[in-house]
Amino acid sequence: MAKIAFIGLGNMGGPMAANLCKAQHHVTAFDLADAAVAAAVEKGAHKAPSAAAAVKDAEIVVTMLPAGKHVREVYEKDVLPNVGKGTLLIDCSTIDVDSARHVAALAQKAGLEMLDAPVSGGVGGATAGPLTFMTGGPQASFDKARPILEKMGKNIVLAGPSGSGQAAKICNNMMLAISMIGVSEGFMLAKRLGLDFQKLFDIASTSSGQSWAMTSYCPVAGPVPASPANRDYQPGFTAAMMLKDLLLAQQASAAAGAATPLGAEAAQLFSLFVNSGNAGKDFSGIIKMLDGK
Ligand code: NAD
Repeated sequence: MAKIAFIGLGNMGGPMAANLCKAQHHVTAFDLADAAVAAAVEKGAHKAPSAAAAVKDAEIVVTMLPAGKHVREVYEKDVLPNVGKGTLLIDCSTIDVDSARHVAALAQKAGLEMLDAPVSGGVGGATAGPLTFMTGGPQASFDKARPILEKMGKNIVLAGPSGSGQAAKICNNMMLAISMIGVSEGFMLAKRLGLDFQKLFDIASTSSGQSWAMTSYCPVAGPVPASPANRDYQPGFTAAMMLKDLLLAQQASAAAGAATPLGAEAAQLFSLFVNSGNAGKDFSGIIKMLDGK
């Protein structure tokens, strides 16, 4: 079994590291938050006093951090100066394509293999295992990483060279934000029309209005018991993270000359929601704002 260093044990990293422990891998865990490390240790991981110490003897390093600046910092200060030759580096965070390519280039310069491997599937997917990994990097690194990624997810796709995983991820999340706003508007219109939420769900979830945002992550309480709407929009996937991804998508659209008018509108709506004190709420909580609350 592999010696794996896992850095970033939050909503996603925590359950992903737990699945590696369950698969009998030797996981050395580090996070800036002590509580996150303690939770990982309870699931079978070994505590490291720092990121640098975590990666020292690792064959594989997995990172699951908030944004590009955290990934750059952790790789530049802790990971790259301390890993041994032959260590495979896998960054599962959702970050900008430039940061992903920058860090991969530094790794390559140091003679190390690296993949960007962001995920889709939310906390439910991270816990139960049906995550999708969209990876970017060389085929040979992908082949080495696959058996490890298979312990944390089900659909493992090589999207192209370095940065391609991140490119796929921001396209996916822009689609998700737009569909969550669409589902929320549908439910709020139903409310004004006096339609029961469960009835709308039963009809739309088997009709052409069906989407993951509705059937796995329904923004109203009731129809999908595991969705954050049933626990006052505790994340889940925070609105701040969704806004980050939407801004990355807008940056990428501008650079690539792509027309993404609904993506731009979604970024504006999420910006309003986040800046009204909802950064830490689940992104599906945007329905409250659309309801005028
Ligand atoms: P989170 O905020 O719950 O977890 C991030 C963790 O990283 C925190 O525990 C934090 O303490 C730790 N951290 C930050 N800087 C660190 C550092 N320098 N060293 C060590 N630890 C550090 O976030 P999350 O929801 O787990 O998301 C992580 C990444 O996964 C993000 O890029 C997000 O966009 C992406 N993502 C999240 C979801 C979701 O549903 N939550 C789904 C898909 C992808």
